[in-house]
Amino acid sequence: KRIILSGIQPTGSPHLGNFLGALDNWARLQQKDTMTYYAVVDLHAITMPQDPKVLRQSKHDMAAALLACGVDPKQSVLFEQSKVRGHTELGWIFNCITPVGWLGRMTQWKSKIEKSHVSHAQALLETSKSASLKMGLFDYPVLQAADILIYRATHVPVGADQMQHLELSRDIAALFNSSFKSKYFTKPEAIIPPATKRVMSLRDPTNKMSKSDPSDLSRINLFDEPKVIQQKVNRAMTDSVKGISYDVDQRPGVSNLINIYAAVTNLSVDDALKEMADLQNSQQLKQAVSDAIITRIQPIQAEYVKLQADPAYVQQVLKDGAAKAQITANQTMEQVYKLVGLD
Ligand code: ATP
Ligand code: MG
Repeated sequence: KRIILSGIQPTGSPHLGNFLGALDNWARLQQKDTMTYYAVVDLHAITMPQDPKVLRQSKHDMAAALLACGVDPKQSVLFEQSKVRGHTELGWIFNCITPVGWLGRMTQWKSKIEKSHVSHAQALLETSKSASLKMGLFDYPVLQAADILIYRATHVPVGADQMQHLELSRDIAALFNSSFKSKYFTKPEAIIPPATKRVMSLRDPTNKMSKSDPSDLSRINLFDEPKVIQQKVNRAMTDSVKGISYDVDQRPGVSNLINIYAAVTNLSVDDALKEMADLQNSQQLKQAVSDAIITRIQPIQAEYVKLQADPAYVQQVLKDGAAKAQITANQTMEQVYKLVGLD
């Protein structure tokens, strides 16, 4: 039996990249003989400063968004990470066996160090560069390993941006087994979406679209109004090359738009290009792309409006989900404590 776990941070409104690269697939993975756990990973969100009020609301909105995207509480366990005890407990056990060096190699961490504002003099010392960054931000891949392994997940859908962290989870599973002479954890496998489902920023198409990008113009939020979507796509960065062609390296902006078109219409890039053969310029391309996005996400938006009118329902789904997840988490922790000698 397949056991799937995936999570999304309540760090803002979900965007088209989250939908095409993750959430749409989450809905599809709900099948017979598959146990699907989907988490709103609030403990990961607080690795960056969050306003408590905003965080509370974002968690609710994210849960409603997941339901609107097709996560079905009858088939999946949908829950908030912080409501299931065991994630942090298992995370601590893993902390006590994971070498610091494994985390120091994480490219996301390294890029966070690069982006942190430090003076030139400070920058000379690697240690002072990271001195003000928080422990949680450094350590969150270990908590991620706990999120996955506490449900003994066999498969984890992840974007390319998370591959290195999943590899770390696999290493931690093996390290736990060898440390405590057990075969308790199995290494989870990645389910990787095709590269064409990776959506890039509209402002800088060499970076991925992100919830936490300070510029709202960089992303299409799943719940943006049609007019806003049109404006954002219209202002997307392209290039001055004539006509429309697909070349991710030379024409990242145009290629991103073609990828988006292909993804929202469920076409291959080749077939999408055939459909676009008549389009003359990027202006026409943008029109086609925003129309296609709007058509695709309109039913999700309608569902979201309905769900937002019934907050008690969403809260009940989360509560039931946490109760179900807790049963499995308790079983795992009991075994883990036995193996470690904490029983
Ligand atoms: P943040 O900026 O707060 O990290 P995010 O946009 O990166 O937000 P996450 O909550 O970190 O979103 O990731 C949720 C899921 O969406 C993950 O599976 C991740 O791989 C996927 N994902 C994130 N951004 C993109 C993107 N631009 N294209 C495709 N998939 C994405
Ligand atoms: Mg992210």
